[in-house]
Amino acid sequence: MGTYPSKGMFGANDNDQPDDPVTSEEFKESLSSYAGETYEERIGAAVDSLWPVVKNHDEPPVVKPRSSVSESDISPTIADKDEYEWFQSYREHQRETVVSVIKSLYIEDNDVTLLSAPTGAGKSLLIYASVMVVNEITGNRGFTTTPLNTLIDQIDNDEFLDDVITVKGRNNYSCVHPEDAGTSVDNAICQRDSNFECQYKEQHHERGGCPYYGRVNAAQSKPNVVTNLSYLMANSMIPDAADAGFSSRELLAVDETQGVESFVLMFVGFTVGPNSVPIDWDKIDSMPSESADMDSVIEWVEDDLMRVVIEKLEELESKSESGFMMSQKQQDQMDELRRFRQRVSNFLDDVRNHHWTRTHNTFAGSEKIEFEPIFVGRFLKKYLWSQGNKILCASATIPPSFVEEAGFDDSDVGRVEVPSTFPAERRPVITTEDVGKMSYHERDKTMPKMADQIARIADLWDGHKGFVHCNSYSIAEKIYNRLPNDVKNLTRLQDGDDREGSLDEWMEAPVNQTGVHSDEGGQVFLSVAMDEGISLDDDLSRWQVVAKASYPHMQDERVSYRMDKDTMGGADWSWYSSKAAINLQQAVGRGMRSKDDWCCTYLLDSSLITLIERNKYLFEDWFLEAVDCDYDASVVSPENGGSDSTEEVSRKSTSSQSLDEIADDFF
Ligand code: SF4
Repeated sequence: MGTYPSKGMFGANDNDQPDDPVTSEEFKESLSSYAGETYEERIGAAVDSLWPVVKNHDEPPVVKPRSSVSESDISPTIADKDEYEWFQSYREHQRETVVSVIKSLYIEDNDVTLLSAPTGAGKSLLIYASVMVVNEITGNRGFTTTPLNTLIDQIDNDEFLDDVITVKGRNNYSCVHPEDAGTSVDNAICQRDSNFECQYKEQHHERGGCPYYGRVNAAQSKPNVVTNLSYLMANSMIPDAADAGFSSRELLAVDETQGVESFVLMFVGFTVGPNSVPIDWDKIDSMPSESADMDSVIEWVEDDLMRVVIEKLEELESKSESGFMMSQKQQDQMDELRRFRQRVSNFLDDVRNHHWTRTHNTFAGSEKIEFEPIFVGRFLKKYLWSQGNKILCASATIPPSFVEEAGFDDSDVGRVEVPSTFPAERRPVITTEDVGKMSYHERDKTMPKMADQIARIADLWDGHKGFVHCNSYSIAEKIYNRLPNDVKNLTRLQDGDDREGSLDEWMEAPVNQTGVHSDEGGQVFLSVAMDEGISLDDDLSRWQVVAKASYPHMQDERVSYRMDKDTMGGADWSWYSSKAAINLQQAVGRGMRSKDDWCCTYLLDSSLITLIERNKYLFEDWFLEAVDCDYDASVVSPENGGSDSTEEVSRKSTSSQSLDEIADDFF
């Protein structure tokens, strides 16, 4: 137990050597070959040497590095592009942002840089460019992680992005060996038979080779590997089961970094019980009761439970090593037990020095115990941050508590902020229409006023789609049931069993579609936990309501521990409020997706107003500047556009995969 991958090399694949860290002095030295007087100018020249410009009107587009086209031939802005031969793919602020990121990491020599970039900043491109500039200057490589596979696919299809390769988990690719063609790689014959030799394994995936292993081989020499967080976590934490084999690189860039804490929790937390651990439970003494002290629970996990887990795992591994053709079920069981062993190893090495919560439950007549650490920074350090010599964390919302939560030392952290390019006058956040508190004890009193206010706003915005953030199914249902019939008939309730499906159907429904059932309305969508990951472009949402502040649940053991004045030396209100601040800013961002978009957001839960007034420091500037701003009434108006017709509103984009689903790739 307790064997961890060493920093640098993860897994058995020794084709991929770790990048040697580049010192600030070495970096400055390398910069001397670029034109410019100052470090900033030289970094800017390096950015220009790889940032693409596009020849106007050519089909297919001709693309060149910016530095190889005369400045006078390049349009200064996209708006003027028709008057010039070339236009640049920079958006406003992008060039100077990349320069600032590189300067923070290598001139100011910060180990970590936090990039706060609101929607519209072109965050993916900023991250891509930062990794490529580091490669251009140092020759070292980088990882880029985006949380969603849909974003990885977009990068795959982007014709302007060179020298980048995407890799996802094995289950996303199909075997090409004639014996098992079409089977998912994680179920293919090479997984079940360890002696199986496949001639496609080392072959390039674009030249008929294995779509997964061939791709991984190709990726090891590429300067920029784009993948998801699960894949990188699995790469270091369970190298045998993940079979990724990447070593650490110079720069690790993590997009949507606000979710990293809950993400890592899915990797290190674990559940014990007959429905969670595939072993023979008759061989184990009964599980400890809720009243048992933690020491005896630890002893039971270490001695009783792990004895049976290791026994089963050794039996399966010896079968695999002896060339026995494993069934799919046995292969899955072996992978699952390997993951479990690693999680328990983390737990046993950690629990005597750090507090873990344990929650006893009974599910479908079977007992289970869930274990979670209170803080996850040390695990992030071990499994994620260890894969980059330098770290770039990017998000539209980075709270002050992030540095400590992520396990960073504040003195090693630099910060770069990009201003919003979306005019605040087109995205007002209105705080003057609140109706009362939606906290547990006040909710019943507030609910009738909340439903009336949503109905009034829906009437005001007749003919325009609107999105309501409800926070829980119980609140969404209560709002729905209290709406007056004329608005209720235009309202759709998110389906708990088919979240994405119900959203898709609402998006595609004509705005004035009516029906007496909760899955029929076309104007209003009562959503639950859709603050992140969806894009409600243009007519998909001209108005939004945030009906409930989204604070962490006090019933959650981790939350209650942090908020208990006796366990933490005082309740951690700053952390608690920062979670609600992130969720609010993310929710507000759903409706305003481009410079030309517009959307009006109403905060109806009075707790949201208090949250903003008392904690301005937790909010990003782009958010605060829109709060009760003087909005442009000629644009943000029910009279602007809208439709009474039965025309469908065109759907622009949504994510189709939740973070949980991606994590399920591995855990
Ligand atoms: S290495 Fe790839 S192509 Fe070969 S059997 Fe395995 S999954 Fe199929």
